[in-house]
Amino acid sequence: MAAGREPHGSLYDTIVVGAGIQGSFAAYHLAKRGQETLLLEQFPLPHSRGSSHGQSRIIRRAYPQEHYALMMAESYQLWERLEAEAGTRLYRQTGMLVLGADTDPEFQRYCQSLERHGVPGERLTPEALCGRFPGIRPHGGEAAVSDGTAGILHADRALRAVQDAFRRCGGALRDGHKVTDIKPGVVVTVTTSGGVYRAKSLVITAGPWTNQLLAPLGLQLPLQTLRINICYWPEKVPGAYGLSAHFPCFLALRTSQAQHHIFGLPSSEYPGLVKICYHWGSPADPEERDRAPEASADVQILRDFVSKYLPGLVPEPAVVEHCMYTNTPDEDFILDRHPTFSNIVIGAGFSGHGFKLAPVVGRLLSQLSAGEEPSYTMEPFRLRRFSALPPAAL
Ligand SMILES: Cc1cc2nc3c(=O)[nH]c(=O)nc-3n(C[C@H](O)[C@H](O)[C@H](O)COP(=O)(O)OP(=O)(O)OC[C@H]3O[C@@H](n4cnc5c(N)ncnc54)[C@H](O)[C@@H]3O)c2cc1C
Repeated sequence: MAAGREPHGSLYDTIVVGAGIQGSFAAYHLAKRGQETLLLEQFPLPHSRGSSHGQSRIIRRAYPQEHYALMMAESYQLWERLEAEAGTRLYRQTGMLVLGADTDPEFQRYCQSLERHGVPGERLTPEALCGRFPGIRPHGGEAAVSDGTAGILHADRALRAVQDAFRRCGGALRDGHKVTDIKPGVVVTVTTSGGVYRAKSLVITAGPWTNQLLAPLGLQLPLQTLRINICYWPEKVPGAYGLSAHFPCFLALRTSQAQHHIFGLPSSEYPGLVKICYHWGSPADPEERDRAPEASADVQILRDFVSKYLPGLVPEPAVVEHCMYTNTPDEDFILDRHPTFSNIVIGAGFSGHGFKLAPVVGRLLSQLSAGEEPSYTMEPFRLRRFSALPPAAL
């Protein structure tokens, strides 16, 4: 697929590598501000081998970290703008419950953040939670706090919408173009399986493949790629946990049985099946993500959770799909310039929570690429927080 303008002498302002949700939004913001932009994707689109495929992602204002809570206010507006431009619905409000022990400091941080930002919602005691949502049994005596603005993003539709909007702004998208070499310089030369392209700046948003692209540029980031099992659990009474029953998304905080969060969404993509996932997986190379998985500890943790907390679901997944997380050690994103080549910008390490924030991430990457002052503090996202980065080996 090829579309969009060829710039004079085929020198683009910016090339973006990777047409997942982050690269697609970065390319869209660049093209919207009049930059000649080329978006390169290794696989024919659409594909399901990275992190941005599938029909649903949770969007929420609830964030214990202030930097994300601030960005989310704008992110909702940008999603709404894309909906209007695309003329299609990308977001469905469902609300979300954060489940945790009242005394858990993380639970309290969620409550405080929601209150500080005036997000509509309420706190529910375990008894009130049972009364309001009979499908949830707070097995460990958990309380809940709700985020009334939360909901579901229609992920596949959103990805297509932003890529279409990018093309409408004159951007060029070439899929089936794997980047095999990057030559840094004032003009960056990018070799792909389909041709050689040149640009004044480069944005790398290659998801779990990021370190492969950065190795020849003398940089290896502390990224861990994880294969996530996306499990769909049958409802005993069809629809009981569905959108029409007003069942919300939920986020269950860590317990002694589950060292990572568990999140769920009302049944929608597969009628009668509820998507519930563990916010962790098994280390895996993205090229091997479709290898038949061994028995997974995370699915056992989910079975245990479903049988204790969600009495209306069968505690055995009927469908298991896969997706990749690319995690940083602190689970904060990496949004920064390459330490040696300042016209190469990196967006990586979205640590399983980047979809909802992609409109703002894309804008920040476009600002970094254009040499502008980014609109948010970049401290949490800088490379230098990893003091022991492997030295450049150019
Ligand atoms: C199971 C699961 C559930 C999630 N739930 C949520 C949620 O509820 N809410 C939320 O906000 N986030 C969620 N996330 C996280 C979110 O989906 C990711 O943070 C986001 O999709 C990351 O996007 P990306 O563009 O960085 O990566 P990707 O989507 O992987 O995109 C990278 C792209 O780069 C391309 N590429 C790589 N190398 C090359 C090359 N050499 N040449 C050309 N192209 C290349 C790849 O093919 C790929 O298309 C979830 C993720 C998973 C896996």
